[in-house]
Amino acid sequence: MTTTLCLFCRIVAGELPSRRVHEDDVVIAFHDIAPRAPTHILIVPRDHIPSVLDLTEDHGRLLGRLFHVAAEIARSERIAERGYRLVSNVGDWGGQSVDHLHWHLMGGRSMAWPPG
Ligand code: 5GP
Ligand code: ZN
Repeated sequence: MTTTLCLFCRIVAGELPSRRVHEDDVVIAFHDIAPRAPTHILIVPRDHIPSVLDLTEDHGRLLGRLFHVAAEIARSERIAERGYRLVSNVGDWGGQSVDHLHWHLMGGRSMAWPPG
């Protein structure tokens, strides 16, 4: 049954398939459908939060979990040693296309700076 129109809420709910690499009570992580790097994983809170603009201090536990999970996945995907990018796009000019908070974990190649 469709619970929401939000794409990532539907992935969290299991209504749409994804290649999950992690799930717990707070966050899930899955491979990006259109990878822009050899390793490109999305880390997503289960709760619908539109972007980092909506975060408050009350999200401390969520953010702690999220960054810890990101580090664990970076290690298990073997991109931690050489380095990687962990980024959350915000709004139109920031390049955000899905309005459900998420971080891109990207690695496996050298990253340009500044990003385009
Ligand atoms: P944003 O553009 O909001 O920073 O990131 C959204 C990301 O979600 C994009 O990298 C895009 O490729 C990815 N994406 C969009 N639709 C799907 C989908 O249905 N499944 C998965 N796994 N990733 C998706
Ligand atoms: Zn959502």
